[in-house]
Amino acid sequence: MSQDKPKAYVNTIGCQMNVYDSQILAGLLQNAGYEQTHDPDLADLVLCNTCAIRHKAQEKAYSFLGRFAGTRIKGDRPLTIMAGCVAQKEKEKAFIRLPHLDLVLGTQAFGRFETHLNALAAGETRIVDTGPSENIFEGFPKDAPINPLPGKQVSRFVTIMQGCENFCTYCVVPYVRGKEKSRDPFAIVEEIKGLAASGVREITLLGQNVNSYAGNNGKVCFADLLHLVSRVDGIERIRFATSHPKDLSQDLIQAMKDIGKVCNHLHLPVQSGSDEVLKRMNRKYDRDTYFTRISALRQACPDIALSTDIIVGFPGESVSDFQQTMNLLETVEFDAVFAFSYSARSFTPAAKFSDQLDEQTKRDRLNELLDFQEKITEKKNKAFVGKKVTVLVEGDSPKPRDGFVKKNKNTRQMFGRSDANKIVHFATDKAAIGDLVTLEIINAYPHSLWGEVCESD
Ligand code: SF4
Repeated sequence: MSQDKPKAYVNTIGCQMNVYDSQILAGLLQNAGYEQTHDPDLADLVLCNTCAIRHKAQEKAYSFLGRFAGTRIKGDRPLTIMAGCVAQKEKEKAFIRLPHLDLVLGTQAFGRFETHLNALAAGETRIVDTGPSENIFEGFPKDAPINPLPGKQVSRFVTIMQGCENFCTYCVVPYVRGKEKSRDPFAIVEEIKGLAASGVREITLLGQNVNSYAGNNGKVCFADLLHLVSRVDGIERIRFATSHPKDLSQDLIQAMKDIGKVCNHLHLPVQSGSDEVLKRMNRKYDRDTYFTRISALRQACPDIALSTDIIVGFPGESVSDFQQTMNLLETVEFDAVFAFSYSARSFTPAAKFSDQLDEQTKRDRLNELLDFQEKITEKKNKAFVGKKVTVLVEGDSPKPRDGFVKKNKNTRQMFGRSDANKIVHFATDKAAIGDLVTLEIINAYPHSLWGEVCESD
């Protein structure tokens, strides 16, 4: 029977929120009678959930969808759908480069996706829906299957809010995702209960700015939500992203300290170490405030692992501004840094700043920063050698590492993630995906660790 079903291919570009949104869209496709395929060339419907945060990500979406313009050797071209942030930003303009597109589905239109699928089935084409929605969370898991996309099953994302009102001058998100809207806390908990019942053990709560979550008409703050989620049986670990430094409250720090299930890791994007650049970015905090937040965190959770985002080469960034960012990295010693060179985005104020830096300067600074951080990350990883960490096993390691010895025919190399978000590889003949395994760290690499299973495990 199932081979008669039409096939859908979903391609996701961008952040964790897009991964989650793709699960929603894939669930709605499943409701509409499609089954998934891993091969876009076999698909009757191709959907690309797009990202507008950087020019490169937008171009990737155009190039992927451009592949489906012609008629295939084996039959008609598939229905082709552009969804998400680029769709929201481009609207009808998407047809200029992709005249074969059948549907342009904006970030608030997911609740109307099934209606549009029906219209496409009835022969309509070139539909554009980038309109607003009364209930942006319509179509979320109460309507769609919760497990439609293949992939990691022990650790899953759950979106708790959409949109952003911070208007950082480089960022397109407020223009494509709209105002902040918090999802109903009880719907979130119900979804997580369902995931726990299906074997999920780790949850990452997602939003552009989770610290400002205000559910149930502002009565439930993010710290309250963490407490609610921590009471779900079967969920062992809770992570969240992304946090804005200006909204990192003492209540949240206290909740991170008090709730054992909340992982000992925080991603706190600083973007720049220069007060002048932070001001021009409209980040609403300065370098000292950032340091104060980090001290409060480290006081409450002494071994907390920290990661951050940096934008290198923001318009007007001087050599001295850049050195202040390097100095901030040296002072904080992050476990991981996600650094990008500035990319001008349409709609954003920074795109119109007159003092744009040339590409070579941006590249040179980015490389210098990444080299510098790599040494810090390696040093932080080496500090784990000799320590015991507990990992949540996620799967088989993609390739054998030094230290892997096959003791018997059942020995395999697996990997898990520590609560400090470190990837640890280890050899085992007993562990299974979803187990919590305690390991002694034997070796450290720039991006991962090697551990041995502790005897008692
Ligand atoms: S906080 Fe700033 S960078 Fe983050 S999504 Fe909002 S506007 Fe963009």
